[in-house]
Amino acid sequence: MHFTLISPRLAIQKGDFLGSGIPYWPLELAVLAAFLQERGDEVSVIDLFGTSPTQLSERGDHYLQGASVAEFLDSPSISEAQVFVLYAISFMSSAELLDIAGQLRARRPEAVIAVLENSQAVTGFSLPHMGENFFSCGVDALLCGEVYANWDEIIRYLKREEGAPVPSNMLVPKIPAGHVLKRLSDSLPSYPVPAWSMFNLQGYWSLPYSHGPKTGKFLPILTSRGCPYPCDFCVIPETNGRKWRSRNPDEVVSEIIALRDRYGVRHFQIEDVNPTIKSERWDEICRLLIERQAGVFFYFVSGAKAETVHLDQVPLFAEAGCRYLSISPESGSNNVLKVIGKRFDHAHALKLIASCRSYGIRTQACLLTGHPAETEEDHRLSCEYLGKMVRAGLDEVAVFVVAPFAGSALYKGRQIDIDDQDALPSFSPKGRKAYETYSHRRSELTRIFLIEKLKKGADLWLQGLRAVFGRPQTKIENLPWRIGFVLMLIMRHRVSRMLGKSKGNSGA
Ligand code: SF4
Repeated sequence: MHFTLISPRLAIQKGDFLGSGIPYWPLELAVLAAFLQERGDEVSVIDLFGTSPTQLSERGDHYLQGASVAEFLDSPSISEAQVFVLYAISFMSSAELLDIAGQLRARRPEAVIAVLENSQAVTGFSLPHMGENFFSCGVDALLCGEVYANWDEIIRYLKREEGAPVPSNMLVPKIPAGHVLKRLSDSLPSYPVPAWSMFNLQGYWSLPYSHGPKTGKFLPILTSRGCPYPCDFCVIPETNGRKWRSRNPDEVVSEIIALRDRYGVRHFQIEDVNPTIKSERWDEICRLLIERQAGVFFYFVSGAKAETVHLDQVPLFAEAGCRYLSISPESGSNNVLKVIGKRFDHAHALKLIASCRSYGIRTQACLLTGHPAETEEDHRLSCEYLGKMVRAGLDEVAVFVVAPFAGSALYKGRQIDIDDQDALPSFSPKGRKAYETYSHRRSELTRIFLIEKLKKGADLWLQGLRAVFGRPQTKIENLPWRIGFVLMLIMRHRVSRMLGKSKGNSGA
């Protein structure tokens, strides 16, 4: 069969360089492409962001970065495909995805259109919550969670074989009575090496920023999937059923070495939502990296659970090539953490930050503000704890205003009021009621970070120098180049619109 896999453009909220616009890679789509190729299918990929990351279009309160699907409608990838798989990479790109589905359906009324959930990112969303929207745009099926274990069953249904039942991880417009959505199989699949040769890697590498600290050539990898925790602001408990599945250390290291040799890449951004649940698994991965002289560097960019990284592991991590660790205290208040459903050992995290510092591993702490349970006193505790982390050696902080991403418990319980329903659902949504209050708290936390860093001496100045000279060791050091780059795109877009040369559907 001929499959065309499509990843949408990226959304950038106007005036906010922190809660949106991160260039996440369509990792699950690259795994699916490799999986289909191994089965002998014909596969085309249209990665709208990666193909043209310097192209910008305006959409109300945000920009879309990448090429429009309209530019590909006459290509063989569209005219010859039997099945389209649209990748729901991020909740922020959900409106773009609906638009793509509508255009494909108009162009190819007879083709099958399926949407694949991104179950391995906190920026993803749970497809069933937008089922009606997708079906009304002509989508035939929603593929929820992982698809590798029962792909044959999925294909039988998509090929409309007579009597083929609706697979348990699929939703369709008319759901048969008794259909229970079950995203994960009980067996642990092994995954092929992602088919990055089908993507425009240069598009990602040429940007002066990335999700983690920007290095020359780099690739994302997943060493595990899912997370057992129930955090109420997060979509992962729903998209993974609170299950965590680890990949075998040997398979992980073999994939790193294969990617290194295939693409000449030595920097790997670990994108697992919770990579270190079994600490001994990472001991083994590190040992194998050293034993096989992999000569690579790795960065935990999506957040590790601090308690699951033991202090005595830090030297081994550093020796194996770890250069960055992101942890997520979320709040300095145990009251807020209790409501969220997350335990966090504040004392251990301070020791971990100090230990990483002494072994040359940069650390980031992610904090939330605007949780419905957060009081002024809770915010004060977060400010206090942030000061302690900086004094322990923290390199950067990321503060987000809690957002109701589709599938999280806060979303399902309608606990967050949105004043402007048309606003971009970003990681710090401006359409949120009382956004100004939370934005103020966010600024205060950022201010505390900067003041405490200044008190520590040359540290912040060195970070500034690395940022200016494009040698980032933390995500925040990506920022000056990122802001400059995006502003340049915006200027170019405006000039081009003024001159009436704006292409296709830009300036809508
Ligand atoms: S620890 Fe919490 S926030 Fe992190 S992935 Fe798991 S559920 Fe989501």
